[in-house]
Amino acid sequence: MHLRLTEEQKMVQKTIRRFVEKELIPLENDVLRNEREGKPSLPPGKLKELQIKAKEAGFWGINTPEEYGGANLGQMMMAIVLMEVSKTFVPFTFGGSADNILYYANEEQKQKYLIPTINGEKKSCFAMTEPGAGSDTRNIKMTAVKDGNEWILNGEKTFITGGNDADFVMVIAITDKAKHEATGRDGVTCFIVDRDMGWKSEYIHTMGEWGPAGLVFDNVRVPEENILGEVNGGYNLGLEWIGFARWIVGARAVGTAERLLQMAIDYAKERTTFGKPIAERQAIQWQIADSAVEIEAARWLVLNAAFTLDHGEDNRHLASIAKLYGANMGNNVVDRVLQIHGGMGYTRELPIERWYREARLWRIYDGTDEIQRLIIARNLLKGHVKVGQYI
Ligand SMILES: Cc1cc2nc3c(=O)[nH]c(=O)nc-3n(C[C@H](O)[C@H](O)[C@H](O)COP(=O)(O)OP(=O)(O)OC[C@H]3O[C@@H](n4cnc5c(N)ncnc54)[C@H](O)[C@@H]3O)c2cc1C
Repeated sequence: MHLRLTEEQKMVQKTIRRFVEKELIPLENDVLRNEREGKPSLPPGKLKELQIKAKEAGFWGINTPEEYGGANLGQMMMAIVLMEVSKTFVPFTFGGSADNILYYANEEQKQKYLIPTINGEKKSCFAMTEPGAGSDTRNIKMTAVKDGNEWILNGEKTFITGGNDADFVMVIAITDKAKHEATGRDGVTCFIVDRDMGWKSEYIHTMGEWGPAGLVFDNVRVPEENILGEVNGGYNLGLEWIGFARWIVGARAVGTAERLLQMAIDYAKERTTFGKPIAERQAIQWQIADSAVEIEAARWLVLNAAFTLDHGEDNRHLASIAKLYGANMGNNVVDRVLQIHGGMGYTRELPIERWYREARLWRIYDGTDEIQRLIIARNLLKGHVKVGQYI
């Protein structure tokens, strides 16, 4: 066992760190100003420009297979990269990637949807959640009824990330009511539906700086060839989509918490009360120490989840642990860092309040805290995972 990054991993970390410091952090003031004036965080075309710069540095399609022009760096590298990129709140994403489940597309679908998505010509979103079905996906109501060579979709989806910008949605609908009622899992299918087939979207305002969308399907006709995977095979695709992002939430939380903790350390050394820098007070030191301990713990949980997946093993239990702990760690750290900054932490002069609002989402999407606990406990109680298994 060797608990250090390899030379290659260190080099990737260093390159991304330099990119973040040189290209992204200098944009932070503009991003804050734009958002506070109700404008998009980055001006049009800026994200693309940044993606091209990242591509020139070798970072494009980080987890995209080589056959599609990607770098396919693997999960450990992805964790390392995301921890670095999350040290800024500038909303940067690498180009050259597509939703994991889109790789289940057949050859024709790949040409029409997967490749244009990887190339940045099309935007996608994934829609499972409905107004009456979030954690409990068995409650979904959207239906797809076969009519000749087409399926007719009716229903509503909500909280769909990217739903207001997407060119197409991968949407889960009930195709066999009896099967679905019997099991809650079977009898649902994933359809690829272009926006111009007729679904409508509406932006949902949240406490964060971006919002998902509600989608409405009113007799939307979808050709048979737009089924992703198998008829009645949509549930597993849904689980795979949701599962992919779980430990990634933890990776993001680690990067953000590291930047925040450094801000708190710098401020505590500068800010003087009652004749001494607050850094000399035990009350402040303990907050710094607790944050550092939790960040380290979350880092190893995330790396273990990534490592396990890279080694072809099932990482779902570890992904739930990394997500649950990482999301809560991020919320604890941002709260302490805000506290250390006192009144300044609460103002819009500093980005801490922005991170505070963003971090709250980590405990909700991709499975809430409660759902992660439920999964972890169920795995142990049913014996799917043994205590201390992952070492
Ligand atoms: C910004 C944002 C983006 C999102 N993006 C997407 C997306 O792209 N695609 C998509 O399909 N969905 C998306 N979602 C939906 C997200 O996954 C759900 O909001 C989440 O799973 C929780 O579902 P819910 O909001 O319906 O809460 P509910 O399921 O109604 O839960 C309410 C509360 O009850 C708790 N609870 C529920 N069941 C149990 C239980 N058995 N035991 C104990 N407690 C329980 C929950 O933890 C929560 O605290 C997004 C949500 C948000 C906010």
